[in-house]
Amino acid sequence: MNSNHYGVAGVCRSAWTIRARRLTHQLLGKIRDRERARLVRRIRDLEAENSRLTQLAFTDDLTGAYNRRHFDDQFRHDSALRARRHSLAFCLFDIDHFKAYNDSYGHGAGDDALRLIARVVMSQLRQDQDLLFRMGGDEFCVLLFMDSAAMALRIIDRVRHKVRELGLPHPHGRDGVLTVSFGVVWHDRHSAVMAPHRQLYLDADRVLYEAKRSGRDQIKLMAI
Ligand code: GH3
Ligand code: MG
Repeated sequence: MNSNHYGVAGVCRSAWTIRARRLTHQLLGKIRDRERARLVRRIRDLEAENSRLTQLAFTDDLTGAYNRRHFDDQFRHDSALRARRHSLAFCLFDIDHFKAYNDSYGHGAGDDALRLIARVVMSQLRQDQDLLFRMGGDEFCVLLFMDSAAMALRIIDRVRHKVRELGLPHPHGRDGVLTVSFGVVWHDRHSAVMAPHRQLYLDADRVLYEAKRSGRDQIKLMAI
């Protein structure tokens, strides 16, 4: 009788234990799933935040163009290699009489003009191939990796036109509108050596100065 009683109790206890184990197992599974989902969400958030911070580190706040640091990085890591596969149009451009524009319409209007010009330039570039950098102040640099100088000049001239077409009034501008001037160095991929980017910059700056001296709103080219 006793043993029968203990036997039933034993069966009940072990059934209860199995059930409790099953429930614990299910509960742990649910906690694990929830924890896993929470971790996946957290990792996604961190990745998004990380890419936002990376983006901030190499873009210019005002215009969204790449910044000077990214320009230096490009040449340190990548550009010289890419320029061997394609020729390179190294294009420096600068807004004409921008100081007078600020003086006439205020710094806020000047900022708007910088934003608009950057947007217009980007709209004319090939996504994922051409690069726009704000070098500082009203000076920008465009890198066009392509194999025809004529084609590069066509793109640059289209940019020049598009900036004019913005029709931003300027008391000293040609035809009364804000314009930009360009100095372009064409580096042929068959050239024996890739000029260091500082040299490309100095050469482009020299031809940009010529464009300014010759009346602004124009493109000057130098081939090396
Ligand atoms: P040039 O045709 O020879 O280039 O004449 P410029 O007046 O454009 O040349 P300069 O270098 O004398 O003037 C550049 C001006 O750009 C001076 C400065 O007030 C203005 N500038 C620089 N950075 C900013 C900016 O972030 N916002 C605004 N609104 N103006 C800026
Ligand atoms: Mg200027």
